[in-house]
Amino acid sequence: MPGLRWLKIVCCAIVLVGALVLVARFLIQRSAPEPVVPGSPQLQVTTSFYPLYYFASRVAAEHAQVRNITPAGAEPHDYEPTPADIAQMYASDLLLIHGGQFEPWAGGIISELAGHQTRVVAVGERLATQQLILNDQPVLDPHVWLDPLLAMQEVEIIRAALTEIDPANAVSFRQNAALLTADLQTLDSAFRAGLNNCAQKDIVTSHAAFGYLAARYQFKQVAIAGLSPDAEPSAGDLAGIADFVRNNNIRHIFFESLVTPKLSQTIAAEVGAQTLVLNPLEGLTTLEQSAGKNYLSEMNNNLANLKTALQCP
Ligand SMILES: [Zn+2]
Repeated sequence: MPGLRWLKIVCCAIVLVGALVLVARFLIQRSAPEPVVPGSPQLQVTTSFYPLYYFASRVAAEHAQVRNITPAGAEPHDYEPTPADIAQMYASDLLLIHGGQFEPWAGGIISELAGHQTRVVAVGERLATQQLILNDQPVLDPHVWLDPLLAMQEVEIIRAALTEIDPANAVSFRQNAALLTADLQTLDSAFRAGLNNCAQKDIVTSHAAFGYLAARYQFKQVAIAGLSPDAEPSAGDLAGIADFVRNNNIRHIFFESLVTPKLSQTIAAEVGAQTLVLNPLEGLTTLEQSAGKNYLSEMNNNLANLKTALQCP
């Protein structure tokens, strides 16, 4: 029956066209740009490394999309931004860096961004005042974020920068900054109480990251490496540190999660000391991130380990 066959062909064609229309509609819906939801993040903020990312995320909250340049597990002292990182900096309203010599790449980027829409703020530059001698040269110690009181000043600098760019959310930035400052005040009180009347005054660290923390709470650091974890100590340096550990009855040697613990372990094995983590918070590992760790939790962990090493009551 040719009529029935034509009916079947027409039916099949209708089903096929219907299916094609559905697929096309699905594809169009998927590729359409997402509608702008009122109150969704508008401000694009980029930070060079973890502490600035944590502080900016807390202060900006839902009013900005904050992205970090140095990836999880990488060490910011020698990180080189990728072309995608640089594109992201260009697309940002605000770029927060530490400043000084901390980000070796920053100088070039800042001059490239001059006259562009991205505002660049060097959050830690004015706060870094302590000098260290490194290879017989005086250098400014950048690690201000490890002192809770200097961290509060960083929070204020970030709040002011966000407010200047987005004055409509000034009240929200002020409230969020006040909450973070209260957390940092609690941290400061915990360090003051926890590191009181300790039997030991010296710690041995992996790299010289804890100068501001040590000055604030009155202990001393001896660093195995220099100001950056890449600085290689000589055999003579290592022997000197081993002697220092023996002569001062130091029982714990610190290492950090982003750098190989080999040097700390070598000295600890030589003098019969134990190793413990002291986190300079220059970044979190992927594992620390997925475990929900952050600046505050790691600073509290640092305090617990410092109490052990400094033999505090
Ligand atoms: Zn460092």
